[in-house]
Amino acid sequence: MPDSLTVFITGASAGIGAACARAFAARGDRVVLAARSTDALESLAADLNGALGAGTALVVPLDVTDAQAHLDAVAGLPDGWAEVDVAVLNAGLSKGLDPVWKNTVEDVDRMVDVNVKGVINGLRALVPGMLDRGRGHVITLASTAGHTVYPGGVVYCATKHAVRALTDGLKVDLHGTPIRVSAVSPGMVETDFSLVRFDGDRERADAVYADTTPLSAEDVADAVVYCAHAPAHVNVQELLLTPRVQSGFTMIARGEAADRVEGR
Ligand code: NAP
Repeated sequence: MPDSLTVFITGASAGIGAACARAFAARGDRVVLAARSTDALESLAADLNGALGAGTALVVPLDVTDAQAHLDAVAGLPDGWAEVDVAVLNAGLSKGLDPVWKNTVEDVDRMVDVNVKGVINGLRALVPGMLDRGRGHVITLASTAGHTVYPGGVVYCATKHAVRALTDGLKVDLHGTPIRVSAVSPGMVETDFSLVRFDGDRERADAVYADTTPLSAEDVADAVVYCAHAPAHVNVQELLLTPRVQSGFTMIARGEAADRVEGR
């Protein structure tokens, strides 16, 4: 892999994806910013190109659920950007916190389409070029939700189990090739994730992170950059990280309980 990487990031308009873009760019890599919110992407690209030099960031409007649009977006990358070294397949979301039989058809479709089909669309668009060039790295954003289930999050958890299966399966399908495949699986991260889950209900979203210390988007971006810049013979299969206050995937310590000293 070259020292300076070209990194294609889905869901780069917010949260973990935007933090990944900043972290890769800060260490001298070039970032392709893909998502639907063009204004947010343009603003991030202007920041990065202004601070780190023109040609640091490129905006690619993309809905990852559209398989053909994903192929077209990658095929249409301009000269100098087309050789994608790292694909960070990060776009994803959760909708609602209801028992599985009460999830609306729209919410189920959205989670499956973005979290599962979106990743498959990304693989179809980006892996062939990596094979042609004989180098590349696919990094998916899975989750601790891909290791467990919790009440009200069953469909989301199912999609993240699928992301882990897709990631492990891709590594198997790529056996004997130089392409690396990693999953980064965070626990609770404070981003717009809960705001999206609760349809913009700020009070409900803020309560998720109240009185405790979740991961930041930057913490997760550090993990993604670590995977991408590990020595060439190393493949980080999965990097699972939680905030210190999180245990057993779903237990979050809050307030004084977050700093309990055993035996006191
Ligand atoms: P976020 O702040 O809500 O960001 C989600 C990103 O996904 C946005 O940039 C959004 O961009 C993009 N996205 C959603 N639908 C899309 C579509 N159809 N096409 C293209 N992009 C789309 O959430 P986040 O916390 O950063 O989440 C990023 C990833 O981390 C997700 O896969 C999530 O499941 C995973 N994760 C999050 C947490 C957490 O606690 N936050 C924990 C574990 C894993 P547009 O709306 O502009 O398209």
